[in-house]
Amino acid sequence: LRVAFEEILEIAAKAKLEIVGFSAASALTEEATKLRIWQENGFAADMKWMQRDPLKLADPLHLLPEAKSVISVAVAYDRRMLPSQKAGYGRVARYAWGKDYHLVLKSRIEDFAKLLSAEFGEFKSRSFTDAVPLLERAFAKNAGLGFIGKNTLLIKPKLGSFTLLAELISDLEIENLPIQKKLSGCGTCTKCIKACPTNAIKSAYVLDANKCISYLSIEKRGNLSEEERGMLGQWIFGCDICQDVCPYNHSQLKQQFEAQIPEFGYEFGVGPWLSLERVCSIANNQEFKSNFKDSPVIRAKREGLIRNAICVAVNTGYGELKPSLEKLSLDSSELVRDYASWGLGRLS
Ligand code: SF4
Repeated sequence: LRVAFEEILEIAAKAKLEIVGFSAASALTEEATKLRIWQENGFAADMKWMQRDPLKLADPLHLLPEAKSVISVAVAYDRRMLPSQKAGYGRVARYAWGKDYHLVLKSRIEDFAKLLSAEFGEFKSRSFTDAVPLLERAFAKNAGLGFIGKNTLLIKPKLGSFTLLAELISDLEIENLPIQKKLSGCGTCTKCIKACPTNAIKSAYVLDANKCISYLSIEKRGNLSEEERGMLGQWIFGCDICQDVCPYNHSQLKQQFEAQIPEFGYEFGVGPWLSLERVCSIANNQEFKSNFKDSPVIRAKREGLIRNAICVAVNTGYGELKPSLEKLSLDSSELVRDYASWGLGRLS
């Protein structure tokens, strides 16, 4: 099925998707080589999904053998400025302030696919957001949505990097593609490399996940070393430092832009801070799930979030958490008990 890109853009606008780009569904071999080197250096930490075969991650035909094109979509999340410190609270990365993007963006892109098939007839497709064994950032770059910054994130000039990505891989052949503009890139700037407090950006375009606060606070399960506990600083879930300092985000933050999809706004989720007391009072996994069922924060699981909350209390000297820690020292989870005792010792 052949379709002109202008027609797809019109339908994307009806699905309220504003930033849309297209690329061929062919393997990105150069990206696969870079990924292999990155994996061999151990920079993927223990994230199994990042250790998959690079040739598969770089090839959309593994996800849909009939694929002809990849439609990439970017949606900006909440860029309003809120105080970055609050005693007794842990900071949450912006992408997690509102409702879970897996729920919101996936349904938006599925609606888009339905509108396309209502217009052009049945076609084969699969839609994804984040939870996809594909180098989605590289495809977004190839689709002209932006360039990859030295902090390894996709940056769209005039929009910055506070965006979430989604893809529609399909057997649609897209015609009349416009010639892509050459984007300027990072130039001589190194702000993100210098600002990262844990030196996770080893060099331009190379991130060591083992040191990244986002990885430590969200993906790393179980115990953190004493050094890693300190690395969290005041971050209870995720981190925005390498994006906050990026000049491409400054005008966005200055203008206090709301999210392009309202549900990504802080009013629809946990917002920019989580109360350490509140997190430490969550009695069991069931209560945790019902508290965070619509939030990306659910990813950290109860043990992980309490562990992070205790680290933040220690890192910020929040002694008021001690009564909660006394209770947690009798918790059914050994990890939680260990962290409660450690926290009590350090805050005394
Ligand atoms: Fe590139 Fe500077 Fe932004 Fe880092 S802070 S991604 S070097 S423009």
